[in-house]
Amino acid sequence: MVEPLSEAALAAALRSRWLGREACFFPEIDSTNDWLKRQAVLDPALPDGMVAFTDFQTGGRGRLDRRWEAPAGAAVLCSVFLRLHWPEERANWLTMIAGLAAAEAIEAESPLRVGLKWPNDVVVPAADNGWRKLGGVLVESTWKSGRLTQVVVGVGLNVNVPADVFPRYPTPATSLLAETGQAANRPQLLARLLERLETHYEAARDGVSPQPAWAARLVFLGEAVEITGAGAAPLRGMVAGMDPWGNLLLEDAAGTLHTVAAGDVSLRRQP
Ligand code: ADP
Repeated sequence: MVEPLSEAALAAALRSRWLGREACFFPEIDSTNDWLKRQAVLDPALPDGMVAFTDFQTGGRGRLDRRWEAPAGAAVLCSVFLRLHWPEERANWLTMIAGLAAAEAIEAESPLRVGLKWPNDVVVPAADNGWRKLGGVLVESTWKSGRLTQVVVGVGLNVNVPADVFPRYPTPATSLLAETGQAANRPQLLARLLERLETHYEAARDGVSPQPAWAARLVFLGEAVEITGAGAAPLRGMVAGMDPWGNLLLEDAAGTLHTVAAGDVSLRRQP
């Protein structure tokens, strides 16, 4: 069923305990991440777990200020504000739990099997043996004395977007509609996403690494890839896995294992 997004539709579908219980919907906004970041400055009592979601972003962003584009009324575009007191090494966990929550929400609401492409993409297998991007995660953090104190976790999912509206991206894009031929219910999908995020966040807050669950969905495992952005030259090797903190383990041709931090790097299958 195609039901429009609204605060009432989310509230009716949502079974979380606290995350997303306060939520603001915008028919159009610059970016839900930016709105929550502004609110956090304006309102020191901004509730933990506050959500912003929208039908259209005029300034949606990926990492490195790349554009995140989605046609109006067809995507799930949401951000969650969280207060925390986490040591630095857990920073990647937020991107990881958001990816896991997105994957589980999509699997709950569609017949798709979802993979995660390190460090922040939500993908599905493609007929050409590659992967297509269904969505992405953008986490923006505030630090105080070496601790993560506030984060905004942004998720964009291509839901009812016709396949042909996407430009050619380095990782080709797809949507739930394009993959299944069926329009998905966006309020339900958003509700599942927030519920799963709450569960994974509570486990991570208790110190449980999301790494095993994430690694089970890791795409390109055992395959030859190229990582750009980590240094002057691309780093080439075979994906050997991940460490508990979400760094990628890459084995080069000489058998040396490299630990690659997510930072601002991009990963592609070797041409
Ligand atoms: P990366 O693919 O390197 O992880 P980001 O996570 O920063 O990149 O996401 C931004 C990139 O994603 C853009 O530069 C563009 O190539 C692509 N992109 C933008 N909008 C979408 C979308 N709706 N679906 C899939 N990919 C998109």
